[in-house]
Amino acid sequence: MSTLADNLNALEARIRDAAQAAGRDPASVKLLAVSKTKPASAIRELHAAGACDIGENYLQEALGKQAELADLPLTWHFIGPIQSNKTRAIAEHFDWVHAVDRLKIAQRLSEQRPAGREPLNICLQVNVSGEASKSGCSPHELPALAEAVKALPGVRLRGLMAIPEPTEDRAAQEQAFAQLRELLERLDPALDTLSMGMSHDLEAAIAQGATWVRIGTALFGARDYGPV
Ligand SMILES: *Cc1c(COP(=O)(O)O)cnc(C)c1O
Repeated sequence: MSTLADNLNALEARIRDAAQAAGRDPASVKLLAVSKTKPASAIRELHAAGACDIGENYLQEALGKQAELADLPLTWHFIGPIQSNKTRAIAEHFDWVHAVDRLKIAQRLSEQRPAGREPLNICLQVNVSGEASKSGCSPHELPALAEAVKALPGVRLRGLMAIPEPTEDRAAQEQAFAQLRELLERLDPALDTLSMGMSHDLEAAIAQGATWVRIGTALFGARDYGPV
């Protein structure tokens, strides 16, 4: 059986190969380990193997693991959809939020970021798959949303994030990621973050400029949501 350290090594090789194929510095692509449904012990093992950025989708689950792992210097990223009543805990317990798609959520995160902490890093989620996807702001809403978010003191706009419709077609994968890259370039050349690419499409995302790839399955194995 492969260990988490083996999986991490194999994944880092995939990221390196994809970056080199795209003529990019492999160090410009960072790995976000997505640990939803996986126990704190697996995160501890992965940290020992060298991973330090952890992505979680569900607030209560994340808070439990953070408490168990408080002794580790991890950077926590919230990557799930955000309900208004969860913003205070997210603003208090995370360093990054990847899926902000409306102003009200950004305003609450900004207001609720504890005084004395660095502003919360945020990415705006954009819907690059048209009607097929319900989350993310539309490309035409993006410029006004970004301008409004930039004015908020408690958050720092870093870039854009997308979850395109899953497909095995490499050209279609790249087309969706290229759209996000072009939106970022048009929005503000000073923004430095493209959060895009998961286990099945990270090569296409890196070819189109991903700076964070968010990887669960290729690291931790398939997720078992268990009996409910
Ligand atoms: C679960 C999840 C991932 C990881 O997906 P894998 O296919 O398991 O690599 C990445 N991003 C988001 C937003 C997720 O919810």
